[in-house]
Amino acid sequence: MNAPNTASENASSDQNDRYLATTHEVVNQPPALENYNLYEQDIALQEAVRRENPGAAENDLGAFGALAGSAAVIDLGFRANQNKPDFNTHDRFGHRIDEVDFHPSYHELMRIALENGLHSSPWASPGKGAHVTRAAKYYMHSQVEAAHCCPVTMTFAAIPSIRKQPELASLWESRVLANSYDPRNVPDSEKTSVTIGMAMTEKQGGSDVRTNSTLAHAIGSKGPGQAYELVGHKWFVSAPMGDAFLVLAQAPGGLSCFLMPRWRPDGSKNPWQIQRLKNKMGNVANASSEVELRGALAWMIGEEGRGVPTIIEMVAMTRFDCMIGSSAGMRQAVAQATHHCRHRSAFGSRLSDQPLMQNVLADLALENEAALAYTLRVARALDNQDQEHERLLARLATPVGKYWICKRTPNHAYEAMECIGGSGVMEDCIMPRLFRESPINAIWEGSGNVQCLDTLRAIQKQPETLDAFFREAAEAKGSDRRFDQFLGQLQNDFANTDNIQYRARNLVDRLALAMQASLLLRNGDKAVADAFCASRLQSNGGMNYGNLPAGTDAAAIIKRATPVVG
Ligand SMILES: Cc1cc2nc3c(=O)[nH]c(=O)nc-3n(C[C@H](O)[C@H](O)[C@H](O)COP(=O)(O)OP(=O)(O)OC[C@H]3O[C@@H](n4cnc5c(N)ncnc54)[C@H](O)[C@@H]3O)c2cc1C
Repeated sequence: MNAPNTASENASSDQNDRYLATTHEVVNQPPALENYNLYEQDIALQEAVRRENPGAAENDLGAFGALAGSAAVIDLGFRANQNKPDFNTHDRFGHRIDEVDFHPSYHELMRIALENGLHSSPWASPGKGAHVTRAAKYYMHSQVEAAHCCPVTMTFAAIPSIRKQPELASLWESRVLANSYDPRNVPDSEKTSVTIGMAMTEKQGGSDVRTNSTLAHAIGSKGPGQAYELVGHKWFVSAPMGDAFLVLAQAPGGLSCFLMPRWRPDGSKNPWQIQRLKNKMGNVANASSEVELRGALAWMIGEEGRGVPTIIEMVAMTRFDCMIGSSAGMRQAVAQATHHCRHRSAFGSRLSDQPLMQNVLADLALENEAALAYTLRVARALDNQDQEHERLLARLATPVGKYWICKRTPNHAYEAMECIGGSGVMEDCIMPRLFRESPINAIWEGSGNVQCLDTLRAIQKQPETLDAFFREAAEAKGSDRRFDQFLGQLQNDFANTDNIQYRARNLVDRLALAMQASLLLRNGDKAVADAFCASRLQSNGGMNYGNLPAGTDAAAIIKRATPVVG
């Protein structure tokens, strides 16, 4: 039998009870947005895929959507960002190694991307909606973690440029297209799958690569396919553990494009040295570096002096991926904001039922739908490059869309963060990452002004591109008075070429809006199309999100956009 408690024992047990007293129950918080299907819970994505690639294997997309939305994969995204890559110049014995060490979660995300062909599928099995399907998968995967998508994109985008030098393509293409990931720091000759990067930007000029000072010296014979040594520097080289890079350098005949492996064929390290990693505000799971080329061995791709036209096809593909990536960032922001507001109440009712919040959420959702509709339409154009209209459309729609969609993203991310309130600012929420990622796509691969100037260049060199763009947009003519007026005015404004560079942003903004409105009117949800025309084509002065006019079916737009979890 236990002895009776003493007075002092009783006092201390009372105290413990007080310390252990339940302080509160956690209520009015949403369930975690995880273990949901990024395809099946995204009506706009499903509709866009069916529209642009009616034969798409939706089971496959659904399976990928389940994987991307699993708690385990979402967790990889957080870990890859909490554990930034480390850079080691030398091993402990003093040998130069130039090795960037990534967290296992980064490698796991890369493995998922490459095993699912996000870098290869449209080249390995072209046509029949291949770009559309790949874009849809990339759209889902990049929502989980955007930074590692940079090397995925560069590997994907390199193929059209590498193919310009068939003997190099025969050495590299099958390994670039292999659906597997080999991150080992060993010569590419020991690998059956490789990744590719690009090195154009130098300190004195990024947009203006004509100022590149890196020099290329022929080792023996000169010209396409021949071996050169490169001496100089590069100011930005992302994913520096790639197996080879497309590099711009000055040959005697002018700026030329080269393929430079990280290892020489004899198994020795190619002398290009990483100086340091960039200390970036966002995109931190991906390493970006500054490098010096100290006689690095490389082979010329394409004609001497034609470096920009040779690498431009790679650049065009990376710009397309910027559109997918920024549209994806918007989608994840909308998913987070609508999910939160569906489960959170204030002042007696759910946030998603309150009129002012409905205006903001619906506005964010339709921005995302318009971005997605535009992006997947360009994907279809890429799938049909044998048709003249699609070729011309892709040429103009790429800089217009890269400019517009990427530029619309930062404020969108910030507004979505605000919908979540204070918890949206915390690092255990994905919103800070989406926000820090949001300006990147707008700046790299040709910043905003450069896209606008490229749009003008395309129109000047090939006026048919503008005809194709307007022909496509005009397919919605007659369906909405506001659209007809907007398009007519825009066409008139292109007739005036005075100060056209100064006016370029205004013109490109409106090209993008006209195409987005046209796509939504022709194919989109009625409430979304109506709200888009009312708010984007007929502004009444409001500049921020939450300016949809009365009469908008905001509840219907939000319902479409909200993932149903918990
Ligand atoms: C995270 C990150 C990763 C990157 N990775 C790579 C990589 O892997 N490989 C690589 O080669 N590069 C890479 N870059 C570099 C990137 O592509 C360049 O920063 C970009 O092209 C802009 O070049 P810049 O920084 O020299 O700016 P600048 O060319 O000096 O441009 C500055 C501003 O001037 C504007 N501008 C330029 N010309 C005109 C004009 N004629 N009229 C009006 N405005 C103009 C631009 O739009 C821009 O806003 C990366 C950049 C970032 C941020």
